[in-house]
Amino acid sequence: MARPSPLEIYALLDKSNCKECGYDTCMAFATDILERKIKVQDCTHLMQERKQFKNRDKLIKLITPPQRPVTIGVGDRAVTIGGEEVLMRHQLTYYNQSAIFIEIADDDSDLEDIVKYLTDLKIERIGDVLTLDGLALRNVSGDKEQFKLAAKKIAELSNLPIMLCCFNADILLETAEEIKDKRPLLYAATKDTWEQVGKFAVQNVLPVAIVSSNLDELMSLSATLQKLGVKGIILDSGTFYGSGKLSITYDNIMQLRNAAINKEDPNASWPIMGVPAAYWNQVKVENDKDLWLHQYQEIIMGAIMESIDTSLIVIHAGQNKKDIWALLALMTLRQSIFSDPRIYPAVDPGLYTIGEPDDMAPIFVTSNYRMTKIPVEQDLQGANIDCLLLVVDSEGIGIESAVAGGQFNAGGIAEAVKEFGAFDKVKHRILIIPGMAARLSGSLEDEADAFVLVGPRDSSGIPKFMETLWKPEECMKEYESWEKE
Ligand code: SF4
Repeated sequence: MARPSPLEIYALLDKSNCKECGYDTCMAFATDILERKIKVQDCTHLMQERKQFKNRDKLIKLITPPQRPVTIGVGDRAVTIGGEEVLMRHQLTYYNQSAIFIEIADDDSDLEDIVKYLTDLKIERIGDVLTLDGLALRNVSGDKEQFKLAAKKIAELSNLPIMLCCFNADILLETAEEIKDKRPLLYAATKDTWEQVGKFAVQNVLPVAIVSSNLDELMSLSATLQKLGVKGIILDSGTFYGSGKLSITYDNIMQLRNAAINKEDPNASWPIMGVPAAYWNQVKVENDKDLWLHQYQEIIMGAIMESIDTSLIVIHAGQNKKDIWALLALMTLRQSIFSDPRIYPAVDPGLYTIGEPDDMAPIFVTSNYRMTKIPVEQDLQGANIDCLLLVVDSEGIGIESAVAGGQFNAGGIAEAVKEFGAFDKVKHRILIIPGMAARLSGSLEDEADAFVLVGPRDSSGIPKFMETLWKPEECMKEYESWEKE
């Protein structure tokens, strides 16, 4: 499907430039709606004037992506999955990362502790705070009351979206009735239960996952549920382990994505989910070694699924702090896969203060590549070094390449020293440049009228550098002796 242009969107707007949406012009509104920064609902004219309703509906149709988005949960932590326009990230960008839901058994005696731990779990990495997206409650007990009790407890303890997992439609729906105001995902409707589950989903406006390893059957279920009026569908074509089965899992997901995005098949036009946790149904854990091996298998499947933009994955490992590695792997990989290739990985150049620097505090110089500036900053903070960090515009390129390409050069650093008043904050003229930029030291001394120290190649070496080589008085004596010559 060709992406609509801002002009096509503009043609459907009121064109009065009334500014009620906060934009100066309807054209600016059109550009940002394409980037999903705002919604159709933000234009008061389209929403309130009857004569505009036809254009409003046309606009909604025009900007709905070929893979429709589906939201699970309510409030701040509601998660939207799917909604993609391209098969490969580099063709545009992915808009919604794979949501990670952690499976919890309804008969787990540690349920409360697990829920609290997963709800509060936060991992800070290169400037982002990574969190989980939901809890998948599984009816392991087979007991209706137990499932209801566990669902109510989770809804009470956590603001994470909930997925209710049970193939017995009576148990599933009676439990969903208890927490329907949390907009849980119903897992699942099958060829045997679609009518019962589908009708409940329509009445309560809930999303439904449909399951079948037969893609024709899956498409037929999708068509039937849409006809019934279900507004949010998630497709699960099965997660299979073992020799030759991984390729079936992979191919099914890719076929569904291709059918939605390239072939515009309305039955495939929904988010896709995978259940790496299914692995645990077919293995036995007899000792710690087994446990580790099985966890690895599961996490590898999760990683494969993230790499092909599977909209939601359900994971079993990682319920406890000691298994944090499992989630760390998936959450950090996901951070990389779903970064927007159109956004420059850069931070603002400037003079950043770390700790409480005094007038003899060191000034470290680095580039404005995000993956350089943030780790350097974290290393300085971690070592409790009170200092100034001068971030120079290197066009968002890392030190080594920027030195080679000329984007990180003596003239640019000297300009940044002046622009951000680095030497106005201290009583010295010493700059510490990264080891990878050592070759700039001579020219930088001239350009910035500074004494230049070459720091370590990697910022993890800064604490040792400070212990052994940071002698500002000596450096300044040498600098002053140059001045006299
Ligand atoms: S509210 Fe609608 S009509 Fe007014 S400027 Fe925004 S897009 Fe244009």
